[in-house]
Amino acid sequence: MATLVRGRWVIPGADDAVIDDGAVLVEGGAIVALGAFDDLGRAHPQAQVLGSERHAVMPGLINAHHHSAAASHVQHGAPDMLLESWLKALWRMRATPTRLDILLSATRLLKSGVTAVVDLYGAAGNAEATAADWNEALAAYETTGIRCAFGPGVYDQGFMGAGPGDCDAAFLATLPGDLARRARAMRDPEAGLPAAAYLELMETFCKAWRDHPRLAMWYGPPGPSWVSDGFFLKIAEAARRHGSRIQTHVSESYYEKLQGPKFWGGDTLRHLHDLGITGPDFSIAHGVWMTDTEIELLARTGTAVSHNPSSNLRLRAGIAPLNAFLEAGVTTAIGTDSTTINDDEDMFAEMRLALRLARTPTYHEPAPAPADVFRCATQGGARLLGKEGTLGRLAPGYAADLVLVDMTAPCRPWVAPEVDGRDLLLYRAKAADVTDVLVDGRHVIRDGRPTGFDLHDAVAELAAVMAATTFPEDAHRLAQEIIPHIEAWYGAWEHPERVPRTVMNARV
Ligand SMILES: [Zn+2]
Repeated sequence: MATLVRGRWVIPGADDAVIDDGAVLVEGGAIVALGAFDDLGRAHPQAQVLGSERHAVMPGLINAHHHSAAASHVQHGAPDMLLESWLKALWRMRATPTRLDILLSATRLLKSGVTAVVDLYGAAGNAEATAADWNEALAAYETTGIRCAFGPGVYDQGFMGAGPGDCDAAFLATLPGDLARRARAMRDPEAGLPAAAYLELMETFCKAWRDHPRLAMWYGPPGPSWVSDGFFLKIAEAARRHGSRIQTHVSESYYEKLQGPKFWGGDTLRHLHDLGITGPDFSIAHGVWMTDTEIELLARTGTAVSHNPSSNLRLRAGIAPLNAFLEAGVTTAIGTDSTTINDDEDMFAEMRLALRLARTPTYHEPAPAPADVFRCATQGGARLLGKEGTLGRLAPGYAADLVLVDMTAPCRPWVAPEVDGRDLLLYRAKAADVTDVLVDGRHVIRDGRPTGFDLHDAVAELAAVMAATTFPEDAHRLAQEIIPHIEAWYGAWEHPERVPRTVMNARV
């Protein structure tokens, strides 16, 4: 049956004119037509109507970089720190049930207007346990109805987070004997999933999920600090063979930037390029410290970047050069990295932060408009997913991934009638204003609630399970002892001169 999704404003995309008092005709999971609500309503009197004159209708947003979790790091007690220390602080996190991680995290995203997400995921011990865990995660994703590029990855080096290659051994040698022994025992590589077993498991999963309409298996190697060149090459070969994609973290922290010249004789992205990994099927998360040469390389190879402004601020990584990405024509998307400015996974806030952080202070520097950031969160994300032409816009033939936003609160107490609906949405809407979400034409959020499961029950179940889950006291204590040594380790690295892209203030 046809559905007419109506709104005071229909916002088809970043570059399309907003349709006032418009509607989108949806049939069989796809968009059939857009136009004035009165015209479409007359032509399709049988269609069921969704939305109202209070609503804005927009394409589903794409969260291009995320890590699913039922509760945030802060809720687990881990404070924001520089990445290298923070990764240790996370050792205090209690184990959470996979099904609830996915159900609650995906629902939070859907309720902030996100209809597709890239979830970089991990392993759960040996191959058998990991296979069961991934199946559980994918089944939960199916329950929520969101689209997901599910990208598991494992380490084959850098377990201590001291850098690539032999860094771990050198770092462990700086620790007092007893601490070194306990640290070795804590991060024993044999306890995780070895690279060969990971690749084998990925073979099975890529084949099993190849034809799913909304879920896709991606390779999610954590980053060049934790994945050796040889492992990266095997991942690239396998991803190509399966028509899958790769996403990894590159140049997030300042110390990751320093790793390029220190270990690979140049920029990190250049190193990945030399390995043959860059290209339209490859995306990086962060890219805060990309040099001009790396940005040119991103653009030339079609490598996409997920800009995660909240996470970059929270972990003191810095501010990614969004204006330079856009000027160079880099495929740029937006991601929440499960670490957002208000700790609530609100994609509207994330878009707003991306917009605000790139506001340069002079007339001769570029600065993004709301539509530029909207383009990143929709069409940019679609291109990163390899779904340009079916996602990221409302147009005939595109998938019916739509979001209805109740504009009552953003419009209160008054809005001039001529104000552009897209600007209003970008400047004022919040996740709490989203009422309904369609993915592939399926109604997955109705009146603010998921349709595939009982959210109230899931929240209660999580609270009950966590009340009975013990705090990993030993791991936490060990992390607290190691963090000062990590600070000393990275603090000793040489800092070359930093040349800023813009100057935001001045001493004199
Ligand atoms: Zn991340």
